Amino acid sequence: MTLHIETPLIESRAMSFASGRSVWLKLDAMQPSGSFKLRGIGLACETYLARGARRFISSSGGNAGLAVAYAGRRLGVPVVVVVPETTSERAKALLELEKAEVIVQGSSWQEANAYTQSLIRESDAFLHPFDDPLLWQGHATLIDEVFHFGLKPDALVLSVGGGGLMSGVIEGLYRNGWQDIPVFAVETMGAASFHAALNAGHTVELDQITSVATSLGAKRVCEQAFDWSKKHSIQSVLVSDQSALTACERFLDDHRLLVEPACGASLAAIYEKIPELDEFNNILVVVCGGATTTIEQLRKLKLPALNSIGEKNNENPD
Ligand SMILES: *Cc1c(COP(=O)(O)O)cnc(C)c1O
Repeated sequence: MTLHIETPLIESRAMSFASGRSVWLKLDAMQPSGSFKLRGIGLACETYLARGARRFISSSGGNAGLAVAYAGRRLGVPVVVVVPETTSERAKALLELEKAEVIVQGSSWQEANAYTQSLIRESDAFLHPFDDPLLWQGHATLIDEVFHFGLKPDALVLSVGGGGLMSGVIEGLYRNGWQDIPVFAVETMGAASFHAALNAGHTVELDQITSVATSLGAKRVCEQAFDWSKKHSIQSVLVSDQSALTACERFLDDHRLLVEPACGASLAAIYEKIPELDEFNNILVVVCGGATTTIEQLRKLKLPALNSIGEKNNENPD
């Protein structure tokens, strides 16, 4: 038994029609914690528990924190999640629904995370949102499921924040003998830390995150994600916040699932028929999910006149 579930894999008729090719969806939005994060974090929590951890600690007010909270409740292990003051009431409420202790500390994620580190005792396990080999091993199960289903896509589209999902998915490709499938790594323009690493030839730290896709807001990707780019065919794709938001709305109409802008970024690559995908006929999109978004929030974000998006610092690397 794993903490994550095997998620549906369906062909999207609407997206296939919109893009003129077969588009398959791995619906990780349906994980009980609301995102793919539960795959890796579930495995990491089980492993740390077996190694003697008595408490799980996270500094993520987003999907990583929710996955830790879910895992802790299921495993009977107390969870502490430290979040900055900028965290939404909804995110805090969702964490509390999972019985996590929520501590609000600091005005930025950096401050919350620094405080988190000071809390960690020897019997605690700190769960990183994207930079842990156990996470990648768990995320790789997503590809195991596609493999067992018997569908071999000729291209894979996924969103990149800190690069944990991508590192795990590529690990899954290799462990199933599918290393010939290229990966399209989608980011929003204001959160393009993987794109920046590819350009620089090494990981770099962005000055700030300006995208509404907060789950993509890691200022620097993990070394593992960059290392894969030297070994595997990975192409960076950038989309605008507005494209990601529009894709979320369209996806809600097409598939009746509400996802975050971080996930909408990958969907936008299909809806907007990016030329990079022209030569592929069977595309698999990881519908990575997102639990903290509401329809009201999506609509508000879509009205740029009411928001000075470029002035915000939306970093929240989870
Ligand atoms: C965490 C997350 C991402 C980014 O994953 P990384 O492992 O940080 O690259 C994308 N979408 C959603 C919904 C997420 O929760």
